[in-house]
Amino acid sequence: MSPLISSIHYISKSIFSTKSIISRKPYFSTMSINLKSPVFAGNPIRSKTPKSTDPFSPTLAFQTLKLLLSGQTHVPEPSSPKFKVLPFRKGRPLAGSTGDLVKKWHLGWLSFGDFKDVLEGSEVKLSDDLLVYLGCNNKEKEQEEGEEFSIVYWAIDVTEGVSLVEKLGSKQLCFVELRTLMVATDWADDGAMGELAIAGHARALLEWHNTSRFCGSCGEMLIPAEAGTRKQCIKDSCKKRLYPRVDPVVIMLVIDKDNDRALLGKQSRFVPRMWSCLAGFLEPGESLEEAVRRETWEEAGIKVGEVVYHSSQPWPVGPSSMPCQLMIGFFAYATSLEINVDKSELEDAKWHSREDVKKALTFVEYEKAQKTSAYKVDQMCKGVEKSQNLASDFNVESGELAEMFVPGPYAIAHHLISSWVHQVSSNGIQTPNKGVHSRL
Ligand SMILES: [Zn+2]
Repeated sequence: MSPLISSIHYISKSIFSTKSIISRKPYFSTMSINLKSPVFAGNPIRSKTPKSTDPFSPTLAFQTLKLLLSGQTHVPEPSSPKFKVLPFRKGRPLAGSTGDLVKKWHLGWLSFGDFKDVLEGSEVKLSDDLLVYLGCNNKEKEQEEGEEFSIVYWAIDVTEGVSLVEKLGSKQLCFVELRTLMVATDWADDGAMGELAIAGHARALLEWHNTSRFCGSCGEMLIPAEAGTRKQCIKDSCKKRLYPRVDPVVIMLVIDKDNDRALLGKQSRFVPRMWSCLAGFLEPGESLEEAVRRETWEEAGIKVGEVVYHSSQPWPVGPSSMPCQLMIGFFAYATSLEINVDKSELEDAKWHSREDVKKALTFVEYEKAQKTSAYKVDQMCKGVEKSQNLASDFNVESGELAEMFVPGPYAIAHHLISSWVHQVSSNGIQTPNKGVHSRL
């Protein structure tokens, strides 16, 4: 089915990363990058949902927000949280960059006061329904003048604010594609991985707000509710509630156990010499295992028996019509071996030996792509690089040293392939082919 094309494409153009358990070692071709949690998961400010009575819960934080917007400078004591705001423009978060030799990006959080100053005289008229609650950091309180504060984090879409670009540029802050930030993230840096997860969640929420403007039941307008964490129809007789959308996608490494080979597919949209896992959207009324078998059959004409779950990854860097895909990764064991490629969906599909796939895991290329991307972000923030379309105009996965290569460590495809090559289960323990088994 056609959605497969887009899902593979998006993986191919990016890198899956998660926090590194094994920190970097000198390059060798069989390097395994094991991460604590998938890229875009492990968000540090939404690990626990606050109780509605906590001052930093969505409901109470929203009340404080309204007071602040009404001009009150002092909000009720004693435990009022501080607010930080992350602006987005055209799906791109605000970012800055630091570092001399090694460049490191960070999100462009603004204090509530600074944010209001920035908006002064711009095209964006601030109102409470524009701000979307992202979460809070109650564990690590910020110290200011001897006092401790919890922090509540908000996102806002300022696409209308054309003049903001220059204003923020003078502070060396710039709106950068999330995909570029993803590639630029050092997967061994827990803090950077956390920022990336926050930005992914925020983008997914804001894109969902942008594309869900009217009620599917009665056609009336939808308005944000509970500090933007859901939406609701304004019509009294309807009042339909809507929650942020997630689109599930199965992604599978098809394995020929007897001959120790894996099936990898190639998309015409992929960069040359790049091969990856098959993938496709789940259909209504279908189990995950059925989707794996159906997609593998449709794409490559291969029959699948046993399906073994590996891991999953939120994927908020797809098109705005799909604000967040959830990639659900499997090992799929083939029961037939003759490949019959559906050319409308794949350019090619081939069985590859374990040795060949091992060579395709080009760690040095992933590291180079990360550093190049981090440098580009730095140049953009300093105003040197004007292009906003960096993700497409430089090759993030050139694979120069390899005959073939696979997506980098920011993509779940990388980890499925790497796990099979190194026979490592999803918990990082060397246990060949062990996992949560499903036999249907
Ligand atoms: Zn309605």
